[in-house]
Amino acid sequence: MTAQGFTTNIVHADSAFGTEHGAVHKPVHNSVQFGFDTVEDLIGMFQGTLKGAYSYSRQGTPTTAALEAKITRMEDGVGSVSFATGMAAICGLFFTLLRSGDHLVMSQFVFGNTNSIADTLRGLGVDVSMVDATDAQAVAAVVRPNTRMVFVETVANPGTQIADLEGIGALCQQHGLVYVVDNTILSPALFRAKTVGASIVMNSLTKSIAGHGSALGGSLTDTGLFDWTQYPNIAEAYRKGDTAQWGLTQIRKKGLRDMGGTLSADHTHRIALGAETLVLRQRQASASTLALAQFLESHPAIAKVNYPMLPSHPQHERALKHFSAGSWLLSFELRDASDMLAFVNRLQLPVKATGLGDTRTLIIPVAPTIFWEAGAEVRAAMGIADGLVRLSVGLEETADLLADFKQALG
Ligand SMILES: *Cc1c(COP(=O)(O)O)cnc(C)c1O
Repeated sequence: MTAQGFTTNIVHADSAFGTEHGAVHKPVHNSVQFGFDTVEDLIGMFQGTLKGAYSYSRQGTPTTAALEAKITRMEDGVGSVSFATGMAAICGLFFTLLRSGDHLVMSQFVFGNTNSIADTLRGLGVDVSMVDATDAQAVAAVVRPNTRMVFVETVANPGTQIADLEGIGALCQQHGLVYVVDNTILSPALFRAKTVGASIVMNSLTKSIAGHGSALGGSLTDTGLFDWTQYPNIAEAYRKGDTAQWGLTQIRKKGLRDMGGTLSADHTHRIALGAETLVLRQRQASASTLALAQFLESHPAIAKVNYPMLPSHPQHERALKHFSAGSWLLSFELRDASDMLAFVNRLQLPVKATGLGDTRTLIIPVAPTIFWEAGAEVRAAMGIADGLVRLSVGLEETADLLADFKQALG
């Protein structure tokens, strides 16, 4: 039976691929080596004639394959590759699909470490343009013959800017560009990037999908919309078989086999468990975050609140059109930035910590911490004020969170 509901589909994903000894949850395979009965099978494994077999766990195991199948279902794709972290997935994408002399267009509103990787790429001869991706025209203005890829986030961290997801999708299709959407914050529970034409969806599994702050992971999902036969950087060795898998095959061979950023079996298991409660958590956290956003916006001590589901958000209409809820990411500025540290210290529930998408609410002042190394110029370009505070709302009761913010604001 193929159920249509998101969570039904995910919690029954493991049994769809055959259970081992009746195990209800996918077993954790920690073996590094996988052996064969005959040497012919061993050779077949290397030559690609023996399908569905495993050889050396750097390239995947039955445990990672089961999680990848779940993520593929969640994003409605044709396949996924998992990585040790979200950053390993992003590196696995850029370093396997781009070559020296290529041009990459990236949203200027991206995760700090993604921004930092752009510099590394420039050092290796890849040209990178950072643009205001809230406007597809800004992307169109920099596209040139050697442009290969456009990279955006759905809801950007920490400013919550929303890229012109649909407009950029149409543009990428028109120019034959690989369109990559980092869906970490919303997750496929709130938004499927395939609906706006994404070629590849990236998720940091560490955040929404695991959701418990106890495992690191990342993934790339191919939506099946991109025609890899037209992509010049696919090596001859991977230009065979199902064309829909060419991109992922190169990503797996180069990004996992050669670069080695493989997701561990234990973390795979913990992420797979977390994924089963994704929808429930995203709903609860989104409801609390909206309540907090509304309260903060109405408070005289607060200058600005960034949350897509507030009518004051510059891309509110876009959020309503594409997202089923606003997620757990919220940022705000105090009217008097000099009050900020004392205010954060007065809060009882939020943990003062970096990181996102945990069961607990996490809070961090942005400029003096995660965007300190980036410098004042990058902060200004990304709209990060000195008094900006980022919140990753957890699963505490909404009323408790509201009460805590009320007391802290006095
Ligand atoms: C955290 C994050 C990443 C990187 O993920 P890690 O698992 O921490 O390596 C990438 N993109 C976004 C939007 C993130 O929030």
